[in-house]
Amino acid sequence: TKYVYSFKEGSKEMKSLLGGKGANLAEMTKIGLPVPQGFTITTDACNDYYDNDKVIRAEIVAEIEEHLAELEELQGKKLGCTKNPLLVSVRSGAVFSMPGMMDTILNLGLNDDSVIGLCEATQNERFAYDSYRRFIQMFSDVAMEVPKYKFENVLDRVKEEKGYKFDTDLTTEDLKGIVEEFKGIYKKEVGEDFPQDPKKQLMLAIEAVFRSWNNPRAIVYRKLNDISNKLGTAVNIQSMVFGNMGQTSGTGVAFTRNPATGENKLFGEYLINAQGEDVVAGIRTPQNISTLKDVMPEIYDQFVKVTQILENHYRDMQDIEFTIENEKLFILQTRNGKRTAKAAINVAVDLVESGIIDKKEAIMRVEPNQLDQLLHPTFEDKALKEAHHIAKGLPASPGAACGKVYFNADDVVEAVANGEKALLVRQETSPEDIEGMVKAEGILTARGGMTSHAAVVARGMGKCCVAGCGEIKVDEAAKEIRAGEDLVIKEGDYLSIDGSTGNVYLGEVKQSPVEVTGNFEKLMNWVDETKQMMVRTNADNPRDAKAAIEFGAEGIGLCRTEHMFFEEDRIPAVREMILSETVEQREKALEKILPMQRKDFFEIFEVMEGRPVNIRLLDPPLHEFLPQDDETIKELAESMGIPAEKIRKRIVDLEEFNPMLGHRGCRLAITYPEICVMQARAIMEGAIQAVEKGIKVVPEIMVPLVGEVNELKVIREMITETVEKVMEEKGVRVDYTIGTMIEIPRACVTADEIAEVADFFSFGTNDLTQMGFGYSRDDAGKFLGEYVDKEILEKDPFQVLDQKGIGKLVQMGAKLGRSVKPELKLGICGEHGGEPSSVEFCYNTGLNYVSCSPYRVPIARLAAAQASI
Ligand code: ADP
Ligand code: MG
Ligand code: MG
Repeated sequence: TKYVYSFKEGSKEMKSLLGGKGANLAEMTKIGLPVPQGFTITTDACNDYYDNDKVIRAEIVAEIEEHLAELEELQGKKLGCTKNPLLVSVRSGAVFSMPGMMDTILNLGLNDDSVIGLCEATQNERFAYDSYRRFIQMFSDVAMEVPKYKFENVLDRVKEEKGYKFDTDLTTEDLKGIVEEFKGIYKKEVGEDFPQDPKKQLMLAIEAVFRSWNNPRAIVYRKLNDISNKLGTAVNIQSMVFGNMGQTSGTGVAFTRNPATGENKLFGEYLINAQGEDVVAGIRTPQNISTLKDVMPEIYDQFVKVTQILENHYRDMQDIEFTIENEKLFILQTRNGKRTAKAAINVAVDLVESGIIDKKEAIMRVEPNQLDQLLHPTFEDKALKEAHHIAKGLPASPGAACGKVYFNADDVVEAVANGEKALLVRQETSPEDIEGMVKAEGILTARGGMTSHAAVVARGMGKCCVAGCGEIKVDEAAKEIRAGEDLVIKEGDYLSIDGSTGNVYLGEVKQSPVEVTGNFEKLMNWVDETKQMMVRTNADNPRDAKAAIEFGAEGIGLCRTEHMFFEEDRIPAVREMILSETVEQREKALEKILPMQRKDFFEIFEVMEGRPVNIRLLDPPLHEFLPQDDETIKELAESMGIPAEKIRKRIVDLEEFNPMLGHRGCRLAITYPEICVMQARAIMEGAIQAVEKGIKVVPEIMVPLVGEVNELKVIREMITETVEKVMEEKGVRVDYTIGTMIEIPRACVTADEIAEVADFFSFGTNDLTQMGFGYSRDDAGKFLGEYVDKEILEKDPFQVLDQKGIGKLVQMGAKLGRSVKPELKLGICGEHGGEPSSVEFCYNTGLNYVSCSPYRVPIARLAAAQASI
């Protein structure tokens, strides 16, 4: 194996071997840009180092020395030479750029002798000692883990003693003294003299860069950005150029376009008489790149040309590092610039319109998850800086919200009815809070995790939610929040919450709104031309359905009917139905619910204007609908004219040890057929009502939780009989289909049998994951975090579909189903339907559509388009 490549040998295609930085240094060399020469030690060498108990093997050392000799030859300078020494930088360079996460050492090769050589060769003593002090500090920090501040303290002290403002005020004599002090710190901290042998310096530095692959911040960054720990980093050894040689030198960073907005205008900063990190370190305030035009006009023009060459060559916005040494320009790095979603879209669309890339490439340029930034209101940057931050919770559902705080759902509903903006603040939410959640601008809870009721429901509604904010005390009885030492927030006071960060602010923070317009809209049109799989939405009411259509939904993939049951004016009838002792009683209660459900369905069909609507029959265990507190029980008893005791007893009867695996889903329809019959009737009556108004309807009736074909057979018959009867009564025929949710492992395994009686399958991957893994969705939060940290699982399977296991069940279900019914319609509902890697999997499995919450529809559309490219 070859472990070392000179810049002349590489190219941009060799990223995985040379790292991003090395590959691009090679590419820039190839296209003739002014790049200081050097060589790259491969990621293979890094992995080899870790495989060999953290030793760089002799074979690799020899290859490094060979390339060093070649570089010395090329530059006509020698490392450590006392006349005209070669100095190098030792730079980390991972495959995927991890800006600032790993380490770099500059000016390597300086020692007590070569620093004199450098003085002679450059006739610039100040510069030579400035470089030496920088090297000692960086080497000590990176290679020997001597804390930076020990050196910074010395610099600060000297500057203060002499009354200097900037590092550039330090004189040669000052710098000489500082070098001596730095060497003293090194000796004290490391226990030996600062290494004078440049080869030893070099090997220690290379090893330090290898090690920096596993420093804590790099590990965190990789986790956040889904970068594998196994890739390793390359190391670049590059001859130094100097921005710290005086007024005709400098260093800077520039983006070819504005990385926040995408505006096609050079964006960047530089500093005169500075090196490396000075620009970002904030020691002096850097100058705007446009002012370089006045300071060094020729260099500026040359630089602008280089940036254009680079952007055209890479056909994407570039992030470029450069240094000017005595009025000579050098390019030290280029990479595709990190950007906001807004900039990503604007750049991609602009590149298409300039004929540089095609539409497909533009689609690939935007990260689907990044769109999330654009789909929820956000706080204005400026307002945020001035805001009074009081606490931080979990970023449970993105967006920004502000309003007056209220501590229960009823108060929120009332406040909103009075035209106020309200935030619902709860210890934790329960299903009964649903109306308050719908009406509130946002939800803040003190307890509960990312999959708590509040979090799941809020995400479904696309409503901003901060959950599990333990830093505040919520006193629901006293209607106040306590934060910190003595801050008390009372009912009616304003708070602002940021569901993308979990931050909570006092008062009203100004927001900017959501819009799918301009280039965003243009890109999404290209997405729709390209994608081959439909994207539907999960929506339980006309408002969500409407929002989803605006985001491009092509139908409803899951309409849960239970949420409709929770609404305040209906819950008494629902409770009456559950508490009924005879079929007659129950039917009477259901008669009250029927018109309400019919209206729900009619309104949804109306908004959907002929797009398919998949309605799932009642799913959750009945006890969820019953009141828990004494007062509500008493009220209910009075209004129904039965003793409260009876209700209490019924509640106890309905209680289950394991409700998720209990009396729910289609099991309810088997034991209480009247409920199923009422729902089927409501669906068909709602559909006919729409048809009579001239609206096209495509109803799909979905039976949940089927695990055995006989369940579906019985229920299908029930539904068919009902809807046929309704159509006969009304004298109107409507095409409809009946299918099932596939969410029990046994259903996947027997999908061929089930397909015989189903017109469609919708994979309910939430429950399928729960039952496939045997992880309770409501309790898994307690251990899943650790599973992921310990790499037992790569990802939380409730967020990202486990393709290996649960995905295999989906594939099996799809294959068996289509083996008996080739035209069987397949879809997926559940959180995974809006997760890009899962969407790709669904496309590859041959699903007809994915369905996700309204605010994820554009993300799913983009992911679907990318899957088909
Ligand atoms: P990072 O990956 O953190 O950006 P780099 O390896 O790019 O680290 O180094 C940081 C900075 O050090 C560069 O932006 C550049 O200013 C400076 N630098 C690196 N190598 C050289 C070199 N050969 N000559 C001059 N400056 C260099
Ligand atoms: Mg860099
Ligand atoms: Mg389910």
